[in-house]
Amino acid sequence: MPRQFFVGGNFKMNGVAKSITDIVNNLNSAKLDSETEVIGVAAQNVYDKPNGAFTGEISVEQLRDTKIDWAVIGHSERRVILKESDEFIARKTKAAIEGGVSVILCIGETLEEREANKTIDVVTRQLNAAAKELTAEQWDKVVIAYEPVWAIGTGKVATTEQAQEVHAAIRKWLGDAISPKAKENVRIIYGGSVSEKNCRELATQPDVDGFLVGGASLKPAFVDIINARI
Ligand code: PGA
Repeated sequence: MPRQFFVGGNFKMNGVAKSITDIVNNLNSAKLDSETEVIGVAAQNVYDKPNGAFTGEISVEQLRDTKIDWAVIGHSERRVILKESDEFIARKTKAAIEGGVSVILCIGETLEEREANKTIDVVTRQLNAAAKELTAEQWDKVVIAYEPVWAIGTGKVATTEQAQEVHAAIRKWLGDAISPKAKENVRIIYGGSVSEKNCRELATQPDVDGFLVGGASLKPAFVDIINARI
């Protein structure tokens, strides 16, 4: 079975009821590629403990209770601004999956790391932390989002070659570290300044299985990104 193309919108801490309603109405009235999975509502974070005295956090059970089936975990804004570690992100990923919430696991290098030729080391380190916590089967519930930090919100998109090169390395890692099945099935999506202008070319790459879209997901052009393959 080919991997189903997957597109998520990451609204971040943006929008109020009126603007989000406009975005949702626009999506609902548009003709969207029926072969692409567009995720419903996802949380942007979750805690690794089931419940208790953790003011300001949200549990997996609370997500499930509000019918939320997905969580974005490990976004660079949380890694960098909120100082979340690889290990904490891995534990949250495990807690989410064990509680029935699928995970968009974000990884990616900073500009400094790329310039020091450390990109593959960094993404491998981030993935190895998750691999320590998850069983091979649990990778069925993971979509990996490769998001180079230098491309997020900067308008500086990775070239198709840069994206494909890292996605191919991640796919190889899936085969070596997890299983042949994970290598075949786990979707690896790209994020970082995806727009209606660059999405089509990125989507032609064999290991680019979709997108995680920030800024452009708040605009009507999000529809064009969802439809990048038609
Ligand atoms: P951007 O954000 O598309 O605005 O670069 C992507 C993301 O943070 O997921």
